[in-house]
Amino acid sequence: MKKYDFLDLGLVNKDYMDALSHAAERVIRSGRYIGGTEVDKLEKAMCRLTGARYAVGVSNGLDALRLILRGYIEMGRLAQGDGIILPANTYIATALAVSDAGLRPVLADVSEETMNLTADSVAAVLDDEVKGVITVHLYGRIAYDKALADLAKEWGLLLIEDSAQAIGAISSVAGLSGETHAGALGDAAAFSFYPTKNVGALGDAGCVTTSDEELANVVRALANYGAPSRYHNLYKGFNCRLDPIQAAMLVVKLAYLEKENGLRREKAHLYNNLINNSRLIKPTIPASDEEHIWHQYVLRVADGKRDEFRRLLAEKGVGTDVHYAKPVHLQPCYTDLTHAELPMAERLCSEIVSLPISCGTSTDDISEISEIINNVRL
Ligand SMILES: *Cc1c(COP(=O)(O)O)cnc(C)c1O
Repeated sequence: MKKYDFLDLGLVNKDYMDALSHAAERVIRSGRYIGGTEVDKLEKAMCRLTGARYAVGVSNGLDALRLILRGYIEMGRLAQGDGIILPANTYIATALAVSDAGLRPVLADVSEETMNLTADSVAAVLDDEVKGVITVHLYGRIAYDKALADLAKEWGLLLIEDSAQAIGAISSVAGLSGETHAGALGDAAAFSFYPTKNVGALGDAGCVTTSDEELANVVRALANYGAPSRYHNLYKGFNCRLDPIQAAMLVVKLAYLEKENGLRREKAHLYNNLINNSRLIKPTIPASDEEHIWHQYVLRVADGKRDEFRRLLAEKGVGTDVHYAKPVHLQPCYTDLTHAELPMAERLCSEIVSLPISCGTSTDDISEISEIINNVRL
């Protein structure tokens, strides 16, 4: 029986093997193993890609979020105990960053259609203690529109993008700040280059982007023991620097981002055209194609049949995954968190299933998987 892996990371890097090897060798021979030209190149590439004026390479996506929040605390823009709104169905890292900074996660529900938070769902949990919103572009779909931008402005909220899943996504909202890419829509953004992301390192890596020079400087210092210059420790910082070998891997792979995102888009559209099983709800395609980079292609299986659906697909050799099975407030580490009713986030978490969509899955595979799915009897 043919196997359709959910994701084979070896295949993801196979096409770039020679370039990756040469880039790694360049770093090894350079004798420079912290910072240096590869990190600079990656940061410049992230500025070009996002349109943000500054980029700071860091250790991973969680640290990127932590550094942004700690940066705003050092700048006096946030204070311990302030509320930060985030969607309840995000990856746990979004919430962990808020808690780690001594801030209070305020969970918002999400739209059934986009699975992202909206101005309305943010407004529903907003109060005077809330000082910021982390909007998560879940699965690679932009979670930003004029209503959300206006709300943030009206309430004086910091708008932070969790762009971990959305590198290269472009908002169709024009004329707000002049910049339209994920990473330049809000006040600051966090990226992750975890190996499974659309641009993955060969280990952990991340990046902060912002057009705020002060924040960029504070984040850079915080990531380097809180020292803006050598042995001058202005803040009680961390060691969250980007490894230059990973930076070199990312410089190679970033050059192919548009191509890779285009292939994912093609596959997502193909799934949407071919799947016609009435027990399933397909993801909607945004009016502007570029708003979505399809980090995940996520179906919904209603009536409590999700796990059975996954089992039936596994029997036919199709690997699937769930991103994510539990919303933040149902994780054991957050049982003490007070929160509003979050019915849509809870429902989505019980219904969602992610299908194979990476470069290891060909368009022929997509056709075959779609046929298998259409023949599943639930
Ligand atoms: C992957 C991810 C993170 C964390 O990134 P790491 O590099 O794994 O620390 C944060 N938020 C979201 C939405 C993610 O998908």
